[in-house]
Amino acid sequence: MRFLMKFGGTSVADARCILRVVDIIEKYRNEGHEVAVVVSAQRGVTDQLIAVANELASSYDNTAIAPLITSLRDRHMKTLEGAAPHHVTETGILIAQRLGSLENILNAIHNLQELTPRSKDYIISFGERLNAPVVAAAVKERGIKPVLLDGCEAGILTTPHHGEAMALPASDGKIRDRVVPLLREYVPVIMGFMGCTEKGIVTTLGRSGSDYSGAVIGAGIDADEIWIWTDVDGIMTSDPRLISDARVLPYVSYLEVMELSYFGAKVMHPRSIEPAMRKNILVRVKNTFNPSYPGTCIVRDEKQDSRVVKAITYIEKVAAININGAQMIGRPGVAKEIFTALAEKEVNVMMISQASSEANISLIIDEFQINTAMEAVSPLVKEGIVREVTSNRDVCAVAVVGAGMAGAIGTGGRIFSALGRGGVNVMMISQGSSELNISFVVREEDGPTAVRVLHDEFRLSEECDEPGQQL
Ligand code: ADP
Ligand code: ASP
Ligand code: MG
Repeated sequence: MRFLMKFGGTSVADARCILRVVDIIEKYRNEGHEVAVVVSAQRGVTDQLIAVANELASSYDNTAIAPLITSLRDRHMKTLEGAAPHHVTETGILIAQRLGSLENILNAIHNLQELTPRSKDYIISFGERLNAPVVAAAVKERGIKPVLLDGCEAGILTTPHHGEAMALPASDGKIRDRVVPLLREYVPVIMGFMGCTEKGIVTTLGRSGSDYSGAVIGAGIDADEIWIWTDVDGIMTSDPRLISDARVLPYVSYLEVMELSYFGAKVMHPRSIEPAMRKNILVRVKNTFNPSYPGTCIVRDEKQDSRVVKAITYIEKVAAININGAQMIGRPGVAKEIFTALAEKEVNVMMISQASSEANISLIIDEFQINTAMEAVSPLVKEGIVREVTSNRDVCAVAVVGAGMAGAIGTGGRIFSALGRGGVNVMMISQGSSELNISFVVREEDGPTAVRVLHDEFRLSEECDEPGQQL
C-alpha cells in the first residue's frame, strides 16, 4: 500500500516524540509499504515566530530576535541530539544555516519597519524548515533513506493568498512527478504548511495547514490512505479538552468532517478533506502516542449508526453583525449589496440568518475581520439601503453535526428544548441545506454549557452498538 502520513506539532514536539514517529514509519516500511511523510513545526514554534514578526513590525524594538534564535537553536539541536545522535554534525549545519537566514530576514524587517504578508509567510514557514531536517535525520539514524523536501519542492503550487493559500489543481501532476519516483527507495520527509506560487514565492496554507499539505500530497501521489497522526485517539464527539467524556467516532464521512472542522474542531484543517474526497482516498486520524488504537476512518459514505447527532463543536473567535432596517422589506438586491460590500473587502461570512420580516439580516464572521466588515457595510446606512448596523464580539457559534439528522424529525426541537432547560439563550440559528449541521449562536460565556448540554442530550458519551437505530 502507499501511505501519506502527516505528523502534527505535538507528535514531533521533542526527541522522544520523534523516536515514536520513526517507530511508526519503520513499522510500515518494514511491512513493505511505501510511506511519504509530512511534518509540522514543533509544538508552539509557529506561534513564537508569529509573535516576534508582529512585534518587530509594530515597534522599533529588536530585542526579541536574539532570544528567539537562541531558543530555536537550543530546542532543535537538543531534539536532534536525542533523535539522531549520529547525524548531529551534518544536520546541525543545515539548522544553523536556516537560523542564519531567519535572523537576516527578521533584522531586515526591523530595519525597514515593514512586514508584508509575503515576508511573514516566509518567516512563519521556518518552524517546518527547522523541524523536518531533524525528523529526516532521525529516519536516517534508523537506516531508512529520507529525502528532505520543502512544500514547494514537493510540488505544492498555490494561489498567492499569503497566510491562507490554496493548492492549485496543477499541484497534482507536479507532486506525482516529484514524489512518486522516490517512494520505492526512500521516505520523502516533506515540510508541511507551505507551498509556493507559480513564480516560486513561498506561501503558507493557514494555521494548522499541515493537515492540508498532507491531503494535497496524499492526493498527488494517489495514496491508498492518508493518515493524520495527532495527540488524540481520533475524531471525537466533542473537543476532549472541553468534554472529558467525549468518545472517539470510528467512522465519519468527508462531509461531516468538513462541517466539524469548519466549526472549530481543530483536529483537522477544514480544507484538508477536499483533496481526499476528490480522489476518494480514505483518511484515518490516529494517535502517535497510542498507535495500535484504530482511530477514526473518514470515508465518502456515511456509516449510519445509532446516532442522529454525531458531534458538537464550537468556535469562540467569531463576531456577529446585525443589519436592521425597514427599508430592506421587500426590496430586491439588499442582500446582494451587503454581500458584495463584504466580498470586496475579502470578509468571509460563516453563517447567515434572515428574519422572515426581512427587516433584519445577521451574519457571523471571524472576529479578526470585524473592523473590516463594519467598514464595508457601514456606507450602506449612509446610502439609505439599511437603517442600522451593529456588531457584537461577545458571541460564539455552536454546531451540531451528523448525517443522521437529515430527515430525522424533531432533532431541532430536541436541541433547542435542551438548551432552554440548560438556561442557554440562542441568539441566531442557521441550518445548512445539507441537513448535516444545525448551527446557532449564543453568548460567548454560554458556549461551553451549550456543548455540554447537547453532548448529554444526545448521549454522545455512550457507546453505540445498534447500528441503524435512532437514540
Ligand atoms: P496536531 O498538532 O497533531 O495537528 P492539533 O492540536 O491541531 O494537533 O489537533 C488536535 C487537537 O484537536 C486535540 O488535542 C483536541 O484537543 C482538539 N480537538 C478539538 N475538537 C476535537 C474533536 N472533535 N475530536 C478530536 N480532537 C479535537
Ligand atoms: N505549524 C503550523 C501551525 O502551527 C501548521 C501546522 O502545525 O499544521 O499552524
Ligand atoms: Mg493540527
